[in-house]
Amino acid sequence: MSTKTSESSASIPAPTPSGRIPTAKDYDFFKVVQDYLERAAKAINLEPFVRTILTQPKNEIIINFPVKMDNGEVRLFKGYRVQHNNLLGPFKGGMRFHPSVTLDDVKALAAMMTWKSALLRLPFGGGKGGIKFDPHGVSKAELQRITRRFTHSLGENIGPEYDIPAPDVGTNSQTMAWMMDTYSNMVGSAQKQSVKGVVTGKPVSSGGTLGRTKATGQGCVICVVEWAKEKNFDLEGSTMTVQGFGNVGSHLAVILSRLGVSTVAVGDHTGYLLNPEGFNAHKLQDYVASKGSIAGYPGGKPITREEFFATKADIFAPCALENQIGEAEAASLNVKVIVEGANGPTNPAGEKILLEKGVDILPDVLANSGGVTVSYYEWVQNKRSESWTEEEVDAKLERAMTRAYKEVSDFARQKKVDMRVAAYALALSRIESVYKEREIFP
Ligand code: NAD
Repeated sequence: MSTKTSESSASIPAPTPSGRIPTAKDYDFFKVVQDYLERAAKAINLEPFVRTILTQPKNEIIINFPVKMDNGEVRLFKGYRVQHNNLLGPFKGGMRFHPSVTLDDVKALAAMMTWKSALLRLPFGGGKGGIKFDPHGVSKAELQRITRRFTHSLGENIGPEYDIPAPDVGTNSQTMAWMMDTYSNMVGSAQKQSVKGVVTGKPVSSGGTLGRTKATGQGCVICVVEWAKEKNFDLEGSTMTVQGFGNVGSHLAVILSRLGVSTVAVGDHTGYLLNPEGFNAHKLQDYVASKGSIAGYPGGKPITREEFFATKADIFAPCALENQIGEAEAASLNVKVIVEGANGPTNPAGEKILLEKGVDILPDVLANSGGVTVSYYEWVQNKRSESWTEEEVDAKLERAMTRAYKEVSDFARQKKVDMRVAAYALALSRIESVYKEREIFP
């Protein structure tokens, strides 16, 4: 199942007509996450000492490591691993290979992993990492050496009971296979088999789980289904637009197409396409898997980014990067609900406009938590030397996501807060109860 289109996201995003490319300069993602933490903390009267601890990650690791390139030249790469919190279990979170990776973005993403694990009641904390480079600009052999050298440099900073990476933008099951193999070669022959759980999102033949590749998209779909039930909205015959057609976006579109939702506009780092009749999500997914992007797909008419955001639809699924929906995009969006497949796609100014317009937002911390949930199932299977069927994995995911959705929705209604603050608040209250029991060492 190593079909994830890591190629698709790797090149530097071309400047869009509105120039909205996430950079540390014009968007402080970590500050945004800290502000939501503040709002949620107020909503539940969070113990001040817990808030203080959670405002910053526990560890921020930066490694500059050399790699010999195919032409013999030695290049220095900058890798990050941020370990936000491990109160509830090992640090857990993806590895991003992208030219725009910054320490602050990784800190934001690591904190969000802490909230997701707590919200889904997983015995994990939160972490995130990445390497600042363009995986498309290197050969496959170079990519392997970069991945292995970074894993080696991380050394004991990762481990199946300590910190467990997974795929994110620009990485996939192949990346995880290299990471696991490198780590298992570092621990000695006698322990090789017992450290499979050092990463999740592995190929199934290397100890991955069935259902992991589609899990994040599938979790988003479960949230959309719950939302539709709540609103008495008929998904059959409805329409959707999707930004980002990689792992999350493509699986979300394919699974929703089975429920009668047609994708009428898509976009990725190469541009945007419109098809009022609806794309064949399967075919487009296969096309992206072989070509690396939607560019040149024959079934759609090229449109601008502005036209994409103005396309009328029932559902919008941002599944690319953070900070994609600002004021301009929010003003032009004409949809009923946004399901945040990506982490942090809606910036606070955009969110304010959308909520005023009455658009429902199914927030990232809830909507895309299917990935870490099935990663947990993979980790458990590795520990027990078991292989669950896809039906088992799907059924467990469905139960976990449905429960989380209901808890968030009920909390939002009862406390009169939006779904994002509700999701943060529920996660924080679970972490708080454990801190209150244990208090602070010494
Ligand atoms: P991916 O690399 O498979 O796909 C990323 C997609 O975004 C590609 O289609 C790429 O072309 C597009 N993209 C990149 N830059 C863009 C730009 N400037 N404008 C428009 N499109 C652009 O990555 P993924 O794993 O699908 O991750 C997508 C998002 O989902 C990220 O925010 C990630 O953190 C989040 N997420 C992923 C998982 C997972 O399990 N993979 C889990 C939770 C959250």
